[in-house]
Amino acid sequence: MSEALLDSWAKFIQGHWQREMPTGPGRYPTANRVGNTTGSRVVYTHPTTHKPQGDRPWKGWWWSEPFPEMPRAPMWDDNPDAVITVCAECHRACCWQGVFMCEDSRNADVTKMSIVELRKLDLENEQYWKTDEELA
Ligand SMILES: [Zn+2]
Repeated sequence: MSEALLDSWAKFIQGHWQREMPTGPGRYPTANRVGNTTGSRVVYTHPTTHKPQGDRPWKGWWWSEPFPEMPRAPMWDDNPDAVITVCAECHRACCWQGVFMCEDSRNADVTKMSIVELRKLDLENEQYWKTDEELA
């Protein structure tokens, strides 16, 4: 976890139950007056009054700190070694498949690239990334 993420979690667990609505924007845990947690409420800054406002009225406890951010989930790849045939000029599979052809496609060669490489380039929707076996 990043330093900023750890800080936000440390702040969160050091919070306390309070009666007043917190003023910073975010999603806050809530509890009813007998002390049972009830879920959460959102506090946001009203666009015209610029005052903090709850998404719905709440007459119970508020946790003093908003829920921290979650760490980003790692990429879940069912087939990380898969290679996709793409146009050697524009690096798009949809071009090689003849769906949307680039200007150079007539004379272009094909090349194979991994899904990891293609995600970095971010040139087209992943729906076109089919392995040769999937296309056959
Ligand atoms: Zn192309």
